[in-house]
Amino acid sequence: MSWSISGHGLSADALLNLESIFALGNGYLGVRGNFEEGYANPDLQSIRGTYLNAFHDVIRIPYGEKLFAFPDNQQKLVNVIDAQDVRIYIGEEEELVTLTEESILGYERILHLDKGYSERRVHWKSSTGKELKLRFRRLVSFTHKELFAIDIYIEPVNFTGRIKVVSRVNGEVSNYSNPNDPRVAAGHSKLLSVAGCGVQEEFLYVEDKTSVSALHTCCVTRHQWDGNWQTEAHASAAEGTVTATAELRGPLNLTKWNIYTDTLRHEEHLVEKGIGLHKALQGMSMDDLLTEQQAYLQDFWKRSDVVIENDQLLQEGIRFNLYQLLQSAGRDGHSNISAKGLSGEGYEGHYFWDTEIYMLPVFLMTSPERARQLLLYRYSKLEQARNRAKEMGHARGALFPWRTIAGTECSSFFPSGTAQYHISADVAYSYIQYYLAEEDQEFLLDYGAEVLFETARLWMEIGHYHEGKFHIDEVTGPDEYTCLVNNNYYTNVMAKYNLKWAARSYEVLQHSQNNGLQELCSRLGVTPEEVNRWQQAAEAMLLPYDSELGINPQDDTFLRKAVWDFENTPRDRYPLLLHYHPLTLYRYQVCKQADTLLAHFLLEDEQTEETIRRSYDYYEAITTHDSSLSSCIFSIMASKVGYHDKAYEYFIETARLDLDNTHGNTKDGLHMANMGGTWMAIVFGFAGMRLKESGLSLSPAIPDGWTKYAFRLTFRGRLIAVTIGRTDVELELLEGGALTLTLYGQPVELSPGATVRQTLIP
Ligand code: BGC
Repeated sequence: MSWSISGHGLSADALLNLESIFALGNGYLGVRGNFEEGYANPDLQSIRGTYLNAFHDVIRIPYGEKLFAFPDNQQKLVNVIDAQDVRIYIGEEEELVTLTEESILGYERILHLDKGYSERRVHWKSSTGKELKLRFRRLVSFTHKELFAIDIYIEPVNFTGRIKVVSRVNGEVSNYSNPNDPRVAAGHSKLLSVAGCGVQEEFLYVEDKTSVSALHTCCVTRHQWDGNWQTEAHASAAEGTVTATAELRGPLNLTKWNIYTDTLRHEEHLVEKGIGLHKALQGMSMDDLLTEQQAYLQDFWKRSDVVIENDQLLQEGIRFNLYQLLQSAGRDGHSNISAKGLSGEGYEGHYFWDTEIYMLPVFLMTSPERARQLLLYRYSKLEQARNRAKEMGHARGALFPWRTIAGTECSSFFPSGTAQYHISADVAYSYIQYYLAEEDQEFLLDYGAEVLFETARLWMEIGHYHEGKFHIDEVTGPDEYTCLVNNNYYTNVMAKYNLKWAARSYEVLQHSQNNGLQELCSRLGVTPEEVNRWQQAAEAMLLPYDSELGINPQDDTFLRKAVWDFENTPRDRYPLLLHYHPLTLYRYQVCKQADTLLAHFLLEDEQTEETIRRSYDYYEAITTHDSSLSSCIFSIMASKVGYHDKAYEYFIETARLDLDNTHGNTKDGLHMANMGGTWMAIVFGFAGMRLKESGLSLSPAIPDGWTKYAFRLTFRGRLIAVTIGRTDVELELLEGGALTLTLYGQPVELSPGATVRQTLIP
């Protein structure tokens, strides 16, 4: 059930959101779901977009007042060459096929999550009464990463006559901007210029270049005409066009094969490389591509599917979110997952902590190889993180940028940008999780330890001892409505874990067979004394606690601020960030998103159940969830403290956030962190999964309205099926050797072929 998403809306608002929802991608190439023929309504401001992950230009950041170590430049994801354009004209009078209300006799639009393509079927009538049936299918290939294919089937219903198709590849493109929304770019929309355009053999090509980063990208297009078409190719200064005409007597078909290359991945001679890639595919048909794509997805779903029985809408939500995560995740070492994936330009294509805390866990537990690629990307930026730490006045250590593409800090508003030092601990956390899941000592030695050591050093630089406790001052935690504080609980507890695990991995590697530790330590200048100091700082870390309320305050001064006047804040003033100056928000107890609660999820053993429950109650009352990174964490924590109804309500908010556009800005791209959060709310929340040094544990519950839910976990080479019904939990080892895990606190043995069944503890 529920392997497709339909989106039949044709209103201006619906179309803009559906451009994001129907976006296709493969981690490298992303194409928004725009109509090939454009929209009939000329006033509709479509965000027509094609993106190559990490393909960016560099723009100057304009400052009114620029202070020391503010970044001069930022990177920006570039909207690249548009190959989506195909226009169809019929009859001698050349009527353009375009979707107006009067012209549509039938219409459906479907995204096939199990097959990996999108489809639009139209029954169309021209103003002179000629009827056509059309089917547009699009696919961004998972197996040929450069390929975006469009397949169009045209069938006349009640006439015969002339048809003309004009297919374009356009190099004159711009980015989208909106100066009034901090979540999208304010300016700099024209980033590309045309470097070349032409026709070679049967190929059209357009090559574009960015002005500052000096990157090139190229689109080479080939058309496959099925039927008796007359074609003519033409190139102007910025655009390649093929015009094809035919007599339309029965069904006709055309497939447009577009290959994208860029100098980040393909180095040089992009046109030739594009043509070469086309030639390698020349024997293939659209059907072959669809078959390949389906096989790829079968493998993905075999490991990643989540089944929710008897709730169609939530089932749709979780599958859609997982599918979009797959489409967005960079896997070539150059790229990562931007806040909007490859579905739009919101947040300018930047990578944030969203990856490590909200998305990587999904891959880690379903396809660890993809998680590894994300970790490798961060590792490749370690040198820049070291440089940034120096620039920020630290003698050593690594400070990862709050937002970036190529590795340098792109945040111009430091209070909720650079000050979020916690990103370095978040990156460290993801390496620790990878180690706990995979027990891969080689990876720890080659990559993880260095990241852990360098980030541990950062905390030693920024923190200090005061009255025997280790303090971290002047940072911002995840909650962006409270900035520049001392001893943010989240930052301190994550830094503590970072320091502890820097020391722990030193110890692990000391005892491992592999003796690369010494070499690493001499390269980095790490001594046993330094490792000791990390351990001591971790032990002495101040974790704010208020004994009167019995909660962890978000920071040193949080609890003595006035509470925001929620009662007198009208609904239309949310999200608050669009209506109040940041300083106004900073003065109050009001949270944009989960902060201390997130820390309680990630590091639950640091506090008692009671402190965690009371903290939940406290922060829930003052959190606006203005960030889409919030509801999923509240869902997980509500599950943890036993508020099952609330856990379910928050879950509903995350599962369909983009499908129902509940944050009102899906048009700018999908909320990727939330998409990972949906999976986390099920697996960490309802099923109570945890990954610790002691191994993998589960403590499942089932929401009231569900009869059953099921998911799979990949863990240390095993594939485990988990099924939770109203009365039983079932665990089955589908791949790999016997394994012990913990269920409701008790060890259970899983062995191949045997199913373990236990009673659900309500
Ligand atoms: C959130 C951040 C997040 C960013 C990108 C902001 O609204 O507050 O936590 O990293 O969006 O998703």
